[in-house]
Amino acid sequence: MTHKVPRTVTSPKKFIIGSGLLAQLPDFVKDFGDNALIISDVFIVDRVKKESIAALEKANLKGYAEQFAFECTDKEIKRLGELAKTQGSNVIVGVGGGKTLDTAKAVAYYYKLPVILYPTIASTDAPCTALAVVYKEDHSFDRYLYLPQNPDAVVADTSILAAAPARFFAAGIGDALATYFEARACYHSDGLNLVLKRPSHTGLGLAEMCYDFLCENVEQAMFAVHNKISTPALEQVIEATIYLSGVGAESGGLAAAHAVNNGMSVVPDLHQAQHGEKVVFGLLTQLVLENAPKEEIEDVIDVIKAAGLPMTLAELGLKSFKEEEWRKVAQLACDKGDTMGNMPFEVTENEVYDAMIAANAMAEYYRKQ
Ligand SMILES: [Zn+2]
Repeated sequence: MTHKVPRTVTSPKKFIIGSGLLAQLPDFVKDFGDNALIISDVFIVDRVKKESIAALEKANLKGYAEQFAFECTDKEIKRLGELAKTQGSNVIVGVGGGKTLDTAKAVAYYYKLPVILYPTIASTDAPCTALAVVYKEDHSFDRYLYLPQNPDAVVADTSILAAAPARFFAAGIGDALATYFEARACYHSDGLNLVLKRPSHTGLGLAEMCYDFLCENVEQAMFAVHNKISTPALEQVIEATIYLSGVGAESGGLAAAHAVNNGMSVVPDLHQAQHGEKVVFGLLTQLVLENAPKEEIEDVIDVIKAAGLPMTLAELGLKSFKEEEWRKVAQLACDKGDTMGNMPFEVTENEVYDAMIAANAMAEYYRKQ
């Protein structure tokens, strides 16, 4: 190769954060068209009709709200795409959790329409990325759908996000907490980010800002979430968990923390654990592998504790430790197709296994502090 793989920054075209934004849907729709198909989670569909559809009509725009049928399958994508055609929709809007937003992204892609997303929980990086996960009718994984574009607009309504269960909010903090450390590793290894380009300086910078926002605001944000209210600290944490973490990971790249999380999918005891909760354990493992300074580890532990996240394997739901299960986790984490290869040094399966045991011992120690 004569030229190196280029660096990238990829991001949604717009990110909007504030409260009462469901009723402001016309402001975002009119940038792209005049007739919106709104794919909505069942729990919020009445509010969408009352606030968004009413506002669209008042602004002389059209809108139709349709309930999402719980899974992002090819059948559901087709059903909603055909509905968009019959309605004459020229903008897709998704309001809901990760699967709803992924479906909205997929419909927009296959039917060549712009897409606006309103996440209702801040638990993962999903809203901002150019990726959708498609499942089969039996709810098993089918494929990753890599999209040529990120969403046209991501709208974070803090009043909706603050009302979601605290556990999901904390899981989003867990996922976002690893972003900086993974981007840093990927940058130092000159690895590949989520769009298979080299990490940009901007990607690393956004990931670092994500970590700073979490450290500064996590306690205050959790007080807000426990009382289902919106405060400036909550808003900064949502900016970190939904925007900075998504863009930081996509442009900056992932490393050991997510590779370990992916490996943990083979442990049946952990199936009830949230993605971000497992990423936290993956992050502790990564810090052990890096032999990170004690001060850095303790800063991370402080955020984990303030967010009320599980830290030890027992807290994640592990009933008994079986060596063969965790050897398998280490093996999968080191798979060629995963992101362990973005660590700045070679990592063996044995080293990952030992680091996971050390991470659990460390978590047990700090839990008692
Ligand atoms: Zn993640």
